[in-house]
Amino acid sequence: MIELTSVTKRYRDFIAVHELNLRVTPGEIVGIIGHNGAGKSTTLKMIAGLIAPTSGTIRALGRDIQKESVRVKKQIGFLPEDSPLYENMTARQYLTFFSELYTMPREQTRARIDTLLDSLKLPEQDKLTGEFSKGMKRKVAIARALLHDPQLLILDEPNSGLDPLTSFFIINYLKTLKQAGKTILLSAHNLFHVEYVCDRVAIIKAGRLVVYDTMDAIRANLGKREYQIIFKADQPLDFERHEDNYIFRTHAIGAIADVLEMISDNDWALVDLSVQESALEEIYVKLMSA
Ligand code: ATP
Repeated sequence: MIELTSVTKRYRDFIAVHELNLRVTPGEIVGIIGHNGAGKSTTLKMIAGLIAPTSGTIRALGRDIQKESVRVKKQIGFLPEDSPLYENMTARQYLTFFSELYTMPREQTRARIDTLLDSLKLPEQDKLTGEFSKGMKRKVAIARALLHDPQLLILDEPNSGLDPLTSFFIINYLKTLKQAGKTILLSAHNLFHVEYVCDRVAIIKAGRLVVYDTMDAIRANLGKREYQIIFKADQPLDFERHEDNYIFRTHAIGAIADVLEMISDNDWALVDLSVQESALEEIYVKLMSA
């Protein structure tokens, strides 16, 4: 679906993106994360065909984005980081205006706009977008990116500045788009959202790709898994204690069986057995401080 090969972007002497290789398979949601200025927007804009790489090739939907720009762009929906609207229009007027620019068939467009306004829970009445909250404005911008029903969606910080509920609405909306067969590439600073919605995550540091893998693989390779057993015993033990309970923590799964056997042999009560895994945020902070 997307294939970047040795993509570099220079702004005069400054290298914003360095020899980037990235593959996104159809139907995936991929998140690009990295510090401010890491090169996320630059990468997304290059894939959307808005700026050209200095070197390297980008293929999207099986075509070279530079050589077949017009054809590819018809299948791409792009949400820029900043997406000002025409504030003297209602959401419907705004979307209709763009559908006319894209010369979309009128009848089909009306139904499409109805569906988008409805699924994004946007009021279609008389309110002008200039009177909308930030969350509603972002939803209108997302609707605009989806207007032509693109196969590939590229979203630059879709949740930036939004409250937790609106953010989650949008994140869940992306999941429904994925279920409908769309491929989504997004950048975000909220790593909890990325972990929640993305199949695969790219971590960029100063324009270089440092990690690109599935969330499971990232957790397995870079995170920690801690097992915890909470139990009661009728004799003093050399274990961590909290109120009436003893707590046993370990990273080694083998040690679990020994402690469970001890609890069972002594007829003690097992209160809880749980597994905690590193969150993406913890892994990210560790990687970035290395
Ligand atoms: P943020 O999280 O702050 O949005 P980002 O990861 O999206 O950051 P980019 O916007 O891609 O980062 O910018 C990467 C680097 O390239 C930054 O150092 C930025 O200043 C620089 N840059 C971006 N656009 C230009 C430009 N048009 N001219 C010169 N430098 C630029």
